[in-house]
Amino acid sequence: MEYVILIIVIAVLALSTGGWLLFVRPRRGRVSAPPAPSSLPAKATPSQAGATAPEQAAAEAGKPQATAGVIEVERPPPSAGRMVRLRARLARSQGSVGSALLNLLSRDRLDDETWDEIEEVLITADVGVVPARLMVDDLKTKVKVLGVRGPAEVKNLLRDELIYQLGDEDRSLRTAKHNGTPAVVLMVGVNGTGKTTTVGKLARALIGDGETVLLGAADTFRAAAADQLQTWGERVGAKTVRADRDGADPASVAFEAVSEGIETGVDAVIIDTAGRLHTKVGLMDELGKVKRVVEKKAPVDEVLLVLDATTGQNGLRQARVFAEVVDVTGIVLTKLDGTAKGGIVIAVQRELGVPVKLVGLGEGPDDLAPFDPAAFVDAILG
Ligand code: GDP
Ligand code: GDP
Ligand code: MG
Repeated sequence: MEYVILIIVIAVLALSTGGWLLFVRPRRGRVSAPPAPSSLPAKATPSQAGATAPEQAAAEAGKPQATAGVIEVERPPPSAGRMVRLRARLARSQGSVGSALLNLLSRDRLDDETWDEIEEVLITADVGVVPARLMVDDLKTKVKVLGVRGPAEVKNLLRDELIYQLGDEDRSLRTAKHNGTPAVVLMVGVNGTGKTTTVGKLARALIGDGETVLLGAADTFRAAAADQLQTWGERVGAKTVRADRDGADPASVAFEAVSEGIETGVDAVIIDTAGRLHTKVGLMDELGKVKRVVEKKAPVDEVLLVLDATTGQNGLRQARVFAEVVDVTGIVLTKLDGTAKGGIVIAVQRELGVPVKLVGLGEGPDDLAPFDPAAFVDAILG
């Protein structure tokens, strides 16, 4: 009996580590953990050979390595070109919208009814009523002027229109140290949109690009929230500053984190905040306070509003209220893998006048990408 169990355990380990190496993790590295929790981990150095099967299995399970002072720090693939790598996932979620539009536009006769149908598809994809109308008017004019024929031409026309609607704003993230002060990033949004996950993924990407990062657990509402952040931190090689008790003042934790970030000279401090309903005035005031208190220490370089793409129009309402309380500098649109309503990118940028800077395409540590309009459109249109 024990034999059978042992063989099954070995088989499962072998399978999971094999899959891990083959499909998930092109590069990985290990470093020795810092001796004391107050110092930051050194940059990971790539080393393929050393990791044993149990270590890799543990890493896959998302648990930080706890063996005597050795923390397994995973090394992510470079962040450049991420969106292209995640293209298949985008194509899966948004592809039906793209093919519906292409089919309609390829009809022999583009009559009013067809144009209405095109508008409907856009509205169903959460593009928004006004932008949908504008897009259809634009396309109509172009088709008339250019006398478009053939599927390839139709596709180019639609591609240009979508890219135009997505705009060419500056989507760069200010995460570089300036004048000796770390960049400060504040992650805000309602409950469950993916703030904590995004902090973890972003920290991982920055560390992969060679930066040092400190996390601030300003979600003091539940201890589990700080634990979740700290687990991410340990996985990616970032220390987490957290309160020593539940219900501590989130502004003071954020202040502590930024102070420590300045002292230890990290490149970026990323502050996770509690999810708050945009309809609760007290909670929104608290968020304003977090930002003001941090600014006594260092300027806040990015306020990233995390929106769940599956929540549609409600996300737009949230965006409006958050933008009033803290100057939102960028949108993170999560869960684009789980909805065909990618048109929300256009709607939300229009609503806030703030660019979508990052998109979340899954729950995995590398499922976050800088938003790239051309790659996005190409994934939709196939
Ligand atoms: P928070 O309450 O805003 O901090 O949200 P969390 O970061 O705790 O995430 C809530 C849930 O959404 C978790 O189960 C995450 O794994 C999941 N999640 C976050 N981002 C994405 C994404 O881009 N795609 C998918 N499918 N799930 C996500
Ligand atoms: P009321 O239910 O209308 O009286 O509003 P409250 O302000 O008392 O809170 C409503 C809900 O919001 C409570 O059940 C809490 O779980 C939640 N809540 C209150 N404060 C916070 C906070 O700082 N962060 C988070 N995430 N939730 C909160
Ligand atoms: Mg959270």
